[in-house]
Amino acid sequence: MHRRKFLKNSTLGSVAILGTAPLISCAETETKTAGNIRPDGPVAICTWDFGNATDKAWSVLRAGGTALDAAEQGVMVEEADPENQTVGLGGRPDRDGFVTLDACIMDSQSNCGAVMGLEGYVHAVSVARRVMEKTPHVILVGDGASQFASEQGFSRTDLLTAKSRKEWVEWKKTSEYAPVINIENHDTIGMLTLDANGDLAGACTTSGMAYKLRGRVGDSPVIGAGLYVDPEVGAATATGMGEEVVRTVGSFLIVELMRQGKSPEEACREGVLRIMKKNAGRTDFQIGFIALNTLGETGGYCIQPGFSYRQYDSKGHRNTPVESYLKS
Ligand code: ASP
Repeated sequence: MHRRKFLKNSTLGSVAILGTAPLISCAETETKTAGNIRPDGPVAICTWDFGNATDKAWSVLRAGGTALDAAEQGVMVEEADPENQTVGLGGRPDRDGFVTLDACIMDSQSNCGAVMGLEGYVHAVSVARRVMEKTPHVILVGDGASQFASEQGFSRTDLLTAKSRKEWVEWKKTSEYAPVINIENHDTIGMLTLDANGDLAGACTTSGMAYKLRGRVGDSPVIGAGLYVDPEVGAATATGMGEEVVRTVGSFLIVELMRQGKSPEEACREGVLRIMKKNAGRTDFQIGFIALNTLGETGGYCIQPGFSYRQYDSKGHRNTPVESYLKS
């Protein structure tokens, strides 16, 4: 259990900054055909070990679908999975027992949409996409976001599963108010895609920090913080302590570092280390970024001490999880 291990070790003061490219699930093209607009073909990567999500994104890209469709449909897999308690249905609730979702989506033309504190709708990313495509706005929050989802024909669902409810009830018995970043193996899903046309897109969706204060919004639905896409450079998305990512406009920073010539991995590393530098002495939080540039190169960096991530081979097949990290 990686995050718990991190927190535990941190308490003991034994963890410095650790990790390298540890948090990517990716799928890459199997062919390189001369004459294509993008000879290197499509790419899909996502945070953590969400292999089913990249499988889905890959199937969309492989069938000639757009980067935007692939990113949306990829993260929807996790939103619909009640076993994933960090995203969508089954997400852990806030302190008061409400499951509130944050999500955003962005395309290669700098179109973007977001929802914050959405309640009662599984596919926050799709509501965010409707905000982008059907309104002149970028962000809808709370009741307004729910009203919009209903008007757009999304069906209402109780997102609090028996499992998440039971854990929350237990948490209330013993905890003082101390929300934690999603507790178990998996987290916010951020996905970055590049299609055969050379268009980039990204999506990010989460139930946010477990047992957060009601109304708390993290980085995930904030364009520039949780996600950023720039067609001239590339795209980045974040996971971890949202407050720290917002403070540094993290994903925008990663894209700007790539613009200055850094590789995706170098950019992610510098972004993480910059945040850690501002928080010298703190060991109670985690930050990770993944990035994809216009050449289809990918990278990621996390302060996680050991991380199991899933890679794909050159045919787009998933391999077994790979354990990979470096001690600094
Ligand atoms: N970044 C998310 C948030 O702060 C949580 C996470 O990635 O674990 O809401």
